[in-house]
Amino acid sequence: MNYARIIVNGGCRGRCVCDHVYAVHLRGRKHSGHGTLMFQQQLIPSSLGGKIPDVMSAMSEIDFSALKVVKYPDPRLREICTAVEEFDDSLHRFVERMFEIMYAFNGVGLAAPQVGQTIRLFIANPTAEPGGEYEGVYINPEIIERSGSDVGEEGCLSFPGISCKIKRCEAVTIRASNIDGETFTQTAEGLQARIFQHESDHLDGILLSDRMSTVAKITNRRLLKDLEEDYAQSK
Ligand SMILES: [Zn+2]
Repeated sequence: MNYARIIVNGGCRGRCVCDHVYAVHLRGRKHSGHGTLMFQQQLIPSSLGGKIPDVMSAMSEIDFSALKVVKYPDPRLREICTAVEEFDDSLHRFVERMFEIMYAFNGVGLAAPQVGQTIRLFIANPTAEPGGEYEGVYINPEIIERSGSDVGEEGCLSFPGISCKIKRCEAVTIRASNIDGETFTQTAEGLQARIFQHESDHLDGILLSDRMSTVAKITNRRLLKDLEEDYAQSK
């Protein structure tokens, strides 16, 4: 992990708006497989403020082996993601592929829109090592409690090369479904809480660049510009 210095403290109690985490380190991995993933549109409060997708198909054909990390400023990262309603074999395969991608980049979290699928799902593991008790899948997640405040260095796989201090809540409780559709709640603090907040942001189209301070934006302006130019050239 190349980011995980958690520097403590600001002054936010109760609710706050904070979030983002990640690490970049390439290590090749191979995978094959393909399948379909089913999801349906949910009602989206426009107050959440991201781009609302105009058309969502009820079913999407996905070649899982072709999934790759979507980088800023790809507009898919700005969509409000839709709820997952089908917990089928395709979803299992999709999640398996997401873990492969996350670990290949030494990431500690990855949200579905970061691999181009705008559904409400993220995976996380603060250890960045495959397996273990902290590895988790969070589907249709909601942060239902927040407390404390914490400032820490964050990066994001969709912003390679960029890291900056972001203020987050120190502890959160999340309610989500697991890969089999069973609801659970989990309370986390520190890095894991930071990951939950960062990844939940992704599902509402909120990015690291939205959470950066003005100073961080200035510091990283060249890197942000490079990413914008790379994206423009890829079109
Ligand atoms: Zn991110």
